Order: sequence, then C-alpha cells, then structure tokens
Amino acid sequence: MSTHDAGAAKDARRDRSDWGTRELELLYDAVRDELSVYNGIGAYGISDEAIRTLAWAVTSRIDCAFDVAWSPDWVTEGHPHLWRDDVGWHALCNECLQERPPMLSEDDVATWFDAHVTESHGRQSTR
Ligand SMILES: [Zn+2]
Repeated sequence: MSTHDAGAAKDARRDRSDWGTRELELLYDAVRDELSVYNGIGAYGISDEAIRTLAWAVTSRIDCAFDVAWSPDWVTEGHPHLWRDDVGWHALCNECLQERPPMLSEDDVATWFDAHVTESHGRQSTR
C-alpha cells in the first residue's frame, strides 16, 4: 500500500501537498485531468468526486510500485508547462517544479515564468 491509507480515498478533494512529493502531485493532477477529458469525450457522466477518487486510486497504486519522475517531454526545453482549468491559467517551471497560482490569462502566467527564470535560475527565459 502507498503512503496513503485507503480511508483517504474517501476524501479525494485532498490538498495537493498531501502526496508528499511534487512529482506525485503532478501525476495525480495528470491522471485526474486525463480522466476528466475522457469522461467528457465519452459522455460517461462520471461525477467530479468519482473522477478525483479514481485519480487518487490510480496514483496511489503507481506510488506503490514505481518511482515517479517528472518528465515533461511534450514541453520544449526552457519553456513552462502552461494549462488552463476552471480557476484560470497555470504555469509550471519544468526545472524546479514551482507553480504559479492561477491567473486570468496565458500571457500573465507566461510573464510570471519569464520573471521566475530570471529570479530563481539567474538567466533570461528563452521562451
Ligand atoms: Zn524554476
């Protein structure tokens, strides 16, 4: 069993920091997002709570048997991982895994990333 007890599945609306590592948080988010997308495509009608519970179960199972490492191969090196959800635009630095809390526009989070690279990594963004 993972570091998470089975009872925790009941409250899948967990705080993202509960996973213990940033990589597992990102894995959970990725699994949840993928389930949500396919739930929409297939019109399966699975509730958000069930999606979160299923994402928790899959992430926990992976956590039991695999070392999870962030590997954003779909993002060009030196660029942030940008995405949008119900609360706004997010940016994730693929180097240090710092994430910007949601903002209103893609331009805003991209601007944050440029400043973050300068402040935290001591160079200009190549985005
Ligand atoms: Zn960074």
